[in-house]
Amino acid sequence: MNTVTRPRILVVGAGFAGVECVRRLERKLSPGEAEITLVTPFAYQLYLPLLPQVASGVLTPQSVAVSLRRSSRYRTRIIPGGAIGVDLKAKVCVVRTITDKIVDEPFDYIVLSPGSITRTFDIPGLTDTAFGMKTLAEAAYIRDHVITQLDLADASEDPAERASRLQFVVVGGGYAGTETAACLQRLTHAAVKRYPRLDPRLIKWHLIDIAPKLMPELGDKLGRSALEILRRRGIEISLGVSIAKASPEEVTFTDGRVIPTRTLIWTAGVAASPLIGTLGAETVKGRLAVTAEMCLPDHDGVFALGDAAAVPDLAKGQDGAVCPPTAQHAMRQGTHVADNVIAALRGQPLRPYVHKDLGLVVDLGGADAVSKPLGVELRGLPAQAVARGYHWSALRTGVAKTRVMTNWLLNAVAGDDFVRTGFQARKPAKLKDFEYTDAYLSPEEVRARVEGAGRARA
Ligand SMILES: Cc1cc2nc3c(=O)[nH]c(=O)nc-3n(C[C@H](O)[C@H](O)[C@H](O)COP(=O)(O)OP(=O)(O)OC[C@H]3O[C@@H](n4cnc5c(N)ncnc54)[C@H](O)[C@@H]3O)c2cc1C
Repeated sequence: MNTVTRPRILVVGAGFAGVECVRRLERKLSPGEAEITLVTPFAYQLYLPLLPQVASGVLTPQSVAVSLRRSSRYRTRIIPGGAIGVDLKAKVCVVRTITDKIVDEPFDYIVLSPGSITRTFDIPGLTDTAFGMKTLAEAAYIRDHVITQLDLADASEDPAERASRLQFVVVGGGYAGTETAACLQRLTHAAVKRYPRLDPRLIKWHLIDIAPKLMPELGDKLGRSALEILRRRGIEISLGVSIAKASPEEVTFTDGRVIPTRTLIWTAGVAASPLIGTLGAETVKGRLAVTAEMCLPDHDGVFALGDAAAVPDLAKGQDGAVCPPTAQHAMRQGTHVADNVIAALRGQPLRPYVHKDLGLVVDLGGADAVSKPLGVELRGLPAQAVARGYHWSALRTGVAKTRVMTNWLLNAVAGDDFVRTGFQARKPAKLKDFEYTDAYLSPEEVRARVEGAGRARA
């Protein structure tokens, strides 16, 4: 077999979209038809919707990190690293490996699925103070941080310090923020029983959002149910409010309130991966503007999908509507884009992506949940069964399914031991330390590097 003449397909990012795409390519293409390469900094696909359960200790971090190397049928070459720039004209992707080596990876077809990063705003102190909820390390770190606050508050004789360590602020009333606040409140509510010196009434969780409603996708009635469940559990919800400034020991809300706190969790939306900015191509609110076939217009062999791309939402039937950044769309786009790459390779017509949203599931911990599968509004245990059933069936491997199910059962039967591991205790890490957003080249730097490498080879 002559490997040199095989077309090279390069997939960037091993998330919901990238992994579905690679698996489909492996299944549908014979090894002689194309060479498949995947660029990814991690050896796993992260099941992001279950991150709040990792932060609250219901699931172990390993159970939501789905291995990329489970089967000998997986023949894709994996480059451990991150793409830091793409030259679309020269068809070269610049990769920084996990050992900090910069390598050029030529391609004939590229599938861009690097996902998104936490969207931040120019709020004084935000990136130095807040935690995000986008990576496995962040979720594990936040759990340790929250338990640390209970330990330190318990040891402190200073009432002001106690009060500030026992207040927690979550910004963002979408599903990520709401589930995070709900799951972590359950953690502190259960843990405080082990601290007889602490007054449970001092523990306060704040969930705030600049929008007038929590999770507007749920609709009015179900959104109100979620709000009532959280308020009943003592979470203080403030709508139409954001952060004016943040510092390590207090957060100022835009309504003027100053909350003494050591914990600010920021989940107010996502922005496309900075990799998209290195292309010098058209974007829609930062996401790469692609056709319904997920192709970049005027660039043969360039595909993009998932959170990083603005894929037209044909099922909505509205001009200019784009698919929301959800795992539901990313997974389906992954399979679909693989079919389109194969069609392009074989000179066949490409098909547009159409998917009608199946609804939303929101796990608020324990028996609390709201779900809207196919438009049916559910609350309590039926909603929880749908939420967990949906996530469980969407986990890709049998091992991940077994781990998650075992963790759920173990947690239900034995509970949590609230152990602080001391992870990064002396070097606190914040949003900017987890998401490596400064690793990327500018379009000019990409061009200069690729041209320089070309001249050196000539
Ligand atoms: C807390 C939380 C809860 C959520 N809950 C839900 C839910 O209930 N339902 C739902 O549908 N959606 C949910 N989402 C959204 C969903 O997770 C995303 O929409 C989905 O992950 C997008 O898939 P993706 O493949 O585009 O990106 P991702 O799954 O984020 O994958 C991107 C991959 O690319 C890698 N990467 C990044 N940059 C580079 C680079 N430069 N080079 C190489 N690789 C790179 C990343 O490490 C990652 O592995 C939730 C998100 C969060 C954060």
